[in-house]
Amino acid sequence: MAKQEIILKGLPASGGIAIGPAYVYEREEVYVSQRILTENEVERELHLLEEAMMRSRHQLEKIATFARETLDSDAAQIFEGQLLMLDDPEMRKALDQRLRHEKKNADFLIYDELKKYRAMLNESRNELLRERMVDIDEVGQRIIRNLQKKRLHSTVEGEHVIIANSLTPSDTLLFSRNDVLGFATDLGGITSHAAILSRSLKIPAVTALHTVTAMVETGDEVIIDGQRGLLIINPCDEHRLDYHRKIKRIERFESELKGLVDLPSVTQDGHKVELSANAEFINELEYVVTQGSKGIGLYRTEHLYIEKGDFPSEQEQYIEYSEIAHMMYPQQVIFRTFDIGGDKLLDSAVKESNPFLGWRGIRMMLDKPVIFRQQLRAMLRASTMKNIKIMFPMISGVAELREVLNMLEDVRGELRDEGISFDESMQIGLMIEVPSAVFVADELAQHVDFFSIGTNDLVQYLMAVDRNNELIADLYQELHPAVLRAIKITIDTGHRHGLWVGMCGEMAGNPLATVLLLGLGLDEFSMVPSVIPEVKKIIRSTTYTEAKGIAQEVLQKSNSLDIRTFLTEYMEQRYPELLVGMLNGDNGVVHE
Ligand code: PEP
Ligand code: MG
Repeated sequence: MAKQEIILKGLPASGGIAIGPAYVYEREEVYVSQRILTENEVERELHLLEEAMMRSRHQLEKIATFARETLDSDAAQIFEGQLLMLDDPEMRKALDQRLRHEKKNADFLIYDELKKYRAMLNESRNELLRERMVDIDEVGQRIIRNLQKKRLHSTVEGEHVIIANSLTPSDTLLFSRNDVLGFATDLGGITSHAAILSRSLKIPAVTALHTVTAMVETGDEVIIDGQRGLLIINPCDEHRLDYHRKIKRIERFESELKGLVDLPSVTQDGHKVELSANAEFINELEYVVTQGSKGIGLYRTEHLYIEKGDFPSEQEQYIEYSEIAHMMYPQQVIFRTFDIGGDKLLDSAVKESNPFLGWRGIRMMLDKPVIFRQQLRAMLRASTMKNIKIMFPMISGVAELREVLNMLEDVRGELRDEGISFDESMQIGLMIEVPSAVFVADELAQHVDFFSIGTNDLVQYLMAVDRNNELIADLYQELHPAVLRAIKITIDTGHRHGLWVGMCGEMAGNPLATVLLLGLGLDEFSMVPSVIPEVKKIIRSTTYTEAKGIAQEVLQKSNSLDIRTFLTEYMEQRYPELLVGMLNGDNGVVHE
């Protein structure tokens, strides 16, 4: 007799749909018992601990290398983080001291130390922090396993959906080397590292199913719907057929995205916008071109300083900027002058208690005119093919902008005197990312050719929420009405003065916000290159009239939850296939 169909609802941790046999994975638990060591055993135990640490480090380094080769940098960072935990000197000191004084076995002491961390983090009301415990646990368990000389078996033969109580980041990564179709777990959330990894690996995953391991047996047929957060066990014929059709639709959609590369980003009623890419390394540019971008909307130049550990010379910069201009020609490249400071500060001589509110971006450059002029000269010299624009970060008011433009004018004069040619009609713009700039946009607009909205900083400064602080990540809301109104003011003001207005913060690449931004009148969207096809697809399937209607409706709403719900429902109805990739863009994870 056919088994009964069961549908479980959990959290949609990674989009996509898969159908296949289940494999119930039970991680072999590690057990520890307390032993009191004799005096003679203490040194040997210390030695065994050191050996287990070394073995763990070696294993983790291998996993981290694999992760770096296969994942995006955020996801690979998880294992770098685990390596740091493993080498935490405080933890090691505590273990060595306790081992010498209490004379207890090392695996018990690790277990006991983990218990302390667990108690501490469990008290935290922050879900993200509690989820970080999974990493600490994984590192601890790895050392214990190595002390007990036990092996970890995260492998399976053939195509399967993995069903588990929970998955560690390493489980997720190691399983991905087999033909894994999806993950479904009793525990876990959307922001857990295993979930981030699944998204990065593009493997569908549903978490927080509570009882899935008790309800599924290895070999049962399951459907994992990472879009809605569903797991269907022993599906009926109708559901199986339905989901096979959905998979076909998704496949068609993905190949359709590939076909969009050479098509313009124009709405059905003929409103055209530019889609461009954010980049910071020259070796990214080849990929940028394959994604159908119209040039570079933000080229971050800080890496030149960070890699060198000092400011690069004018000539070094000239070589890099010219090469980029040549590679992208005839497409445009917007170079941003150094935005050093905040979290991108190298100069250890400068200690600020509030670096994000401190000596950053244009403020630092105005204090270092020799260096700033070298950068401006290098950019101007690289502009002879007329495909370069320059933009300034962190401008907060008109006086600052005037000072910058005077310096630029001076440098231009200098080049003319030296007989060096450059693009005399080059467009100059500034980033709108400091809230004060929004309110003096009228005056700023009189001096430049374009604005580019930097939502990463604009949100952090408007909402007083550190963009890198996990404790308050839920308060970092791109869809907050205050943020949307600031964006509207900027676009309307720019347009009144005949400027074009772009956006190069992460929000520009969030498919949930595409129609809204289009309707607000944004002219250029600059984003991580991999999302360009999705955003283009949305733009090409809507009309400007519809987008304006959506923007108007959103602007009436007074809180971000309502806005997010409204946009999610709209997108679900309008672009059901697209939600597959949407989680990456709007999952409440801190935006870098
Ligand atoms: C921004 O602030 O939105 C931005 C694009 O700049 P960065 O992320 O480099 O600060
Ligand atoms: Mg910024």
